Amino acid sequence: MAELSEQKVIVTGAARGIGRAIAEKFGRAGADVGLLDLEPDVLEETASALADETGANFTPLAADVTDPEAVESAFSDWRGEHDVIHTLVNNAGITKDGLMLRQKKSDWDAVLNVNLSGAYNCVQAALKPMMKERWGRIIMVSSVIGLQGNAGQTNYAASKAGLIGLTKSVARELAGRNITCNAVAPGFIRTKMTEQLPEEQQEEIREITPLERFGEPEEVADCILFLAGKNSAFITGEVIRIDGGLAM
Ligand code: NAP
Repeated sequence: MAELSEQKVIVTGAARGIGRAIAEKFGRAGADVGLLDLEPDVLEETASALADETGANFTPLAADVTDPEAVESAFSDWRGEHDVIHTLVNNAGITKDGLMLRQKKSDWDAVLNVNLSGAYNCVQAALKPMMKERWGRIIMVSSVIGLQGNAGQTNYAASKAGLIGLTKSVARELAGRNITCNAVAPGFIRTKMTEQLPEEQQEEIREITPLERFGEPEEVADCILFLAGKNSAFITGEVIRIDGGLAM
């Protein structure tokens, strides 16, 4: 099932930003794509816009990734229509930045819940159908912050580092079933998440990035399609930086 044009793919956090770009690229490659995100109305709009733009099939799957029952129900709706899940992209993520000294426990919990437990919930829901198919691709959207840490982002860094441990363990457990699991670690990518940073900080980021710019969501999506396709069949447990050289 390596041909992207025959794949059934679920992307989380797909209503906007990097997730939307990933969904769009899969659609353009001919895949059927499930868009999982929080807001049903926004998802409907995104699905219909993406279908118009690409001519592909997009299914809105409204669920909060932190709620295992809602995730299971969304995946079960998907299986009712498409039977299989070939590729799962765990992209949903949030930030709640603040220095450790002043960090609220609720901000720690919220970020770990969405970024790490949310991915756990989705992997749990995808595993059985992938094992039955004896084929699967699981791709986590981590971050260079998970590799390097960052002052003011202890919760985010821990969640993204945790995703890398999850990736490598799932890769080891499921390799025998022909299921690969890899992570991408984007640097600073131009989305709503980074638009919130003050212009001064954005300029500093450009200065410390060897390629001297922010990345585009489509550049993350290209790497993810590679990891889902036939040319990456012997790659598992890997973390690929997409960061303009920032964390090398
Ligand atoms: P974004 O524009 O904020 O999009 C994130 C999407 O995830 C939103 O549609 C959001 O929905 C959804 N989401 C949030 N919580 C959710 C939940 N509990 N259940 C389901 N969906 C949820 O972010 P982005 O910049 O595209 O980032 C996407 C991923 O890349 C994240 O994991 C992020 O950590 C990672 N990343 C981003 C960068 C960057 O520079 N942008 C760098 C490295 C890694 P709502 O809009 O309704 O909240």
